[in-house]
Amino acid sequence: MSDKPISQSRRDAVKVILGTAVAIPMINLVGFSTAHAAPANAVTPDDPTAQALKYSQDATKSIRDSAARPGAPTSEQHCATCMFMLPDQGDAEWKGCSLFPGKLISINGWCSSWTLKAG
Ligand code: SF4
Repeated sequence: MSDKPISQSRRDAVKVILGTAVAIPMINLVGFSTAHAAPANAVTPDDPTAQALKYSQDATKSIRDSAARPGAPTSEQHCATCMFMLPDQGDAEWKGCSLFPGKLISINGWCSSWTLKAG
């Protein structure tokens, strides 16, 4: 055997390794963005109930700080700790809410009806 085929073989191996090293993080990024994308039946900002309750998918971008309710530190007031969240509906990031029938809210969201869940 000559050196040339072995050298080509090494180059091919390096290309495969580098390609894999780039591809794996890209796959993770795609998976990450998919997991956090809002579902089709997510509550939207133009929803009349959402507007009335000042709902936001991101509690940190809501009026939570100025409208905090008793029961938990302000930073812990979000949908995941609210008694109205319906944990059996939706997925890990998006859940049902008693105040938004048929729709899903972000577990990181907040609205002015937030009430600490028992337990
Ligand atoms: S009632 Fe509770 S679970 Fe429903 S949107 Fe408001 S804070 Fe979130």
